[in-house]
Amino acid sequence: MKLIQGIEAFQNSIQPDMQDRFSQLESGQSPETLFITCSDSRISPNLLTQTQPGEIFVIRNAGNIVPKPGTGELAIEATIQYAVQVLKVRHIVVCGHAKCGAVGGLLDLDSLTGFPAIHEYVSKSKQVLDVVANCDEDTKLDEAIKANVMLQLENLQFYDYVKSAMDAGELELHGWVYHFGSGRVDYLTDQSTMA
Ligand SMILES: [Zn+2]
Repeated sequence: MKLIQGIEAFQNSIQPDMQDRFSQLESGQSPETLFITCSDSRISPNLLTQTQPGEIFVIRNAGNIVPKPGTGELAIEATIQYAVQVLKVRHIVVCGHAKCGAVGGLLDLDSLTGFPAIHEYVSKSKQVLDVVANCDEDTKLDEAIKANVMLQLENLQFYDYVKSAMDAGELELHGWVYHFGSGRVDYLTDQSTMA
């Protein structure tokens, strides 16, 4: 199995080279950023951001969706709460990506009738459909991907502790769209404070 071979290669070459770093991580983590992105296999958050283990706390799901609090999505809600209230991250990045299948499904909900869980999940971003209602077909997906990122940034601000950390100047939200074909990242919000 390819993954097991990868583990062996990691243990034989990477782990010894980075032993100091990994030993340090045994005492805890203090990531500066909560990185919320799609489960899409073409995105590698650490590779894209050139970060090391311990530097980004990650939530991944189909379509990088952040449901509003109180909607029963406890896996996501608890992870956001831990990141903000316990780890006290200073940034939350919502990173969408080009060619996102989840957003594509949202634009064609009829195609998801055989996939009830996916249908219900991506429908949480239904407001995006209003934003792109007048877009040309050739730009609709790209615009929906951006609108979907912006919607999640809005949803995050419904979490009381997110809003109060923002108001206290301790937390900033950022929206990105990653194009894996070219490596380009579109910054949809101000990035000036990200060191
Ligand atoms: Zn995606």
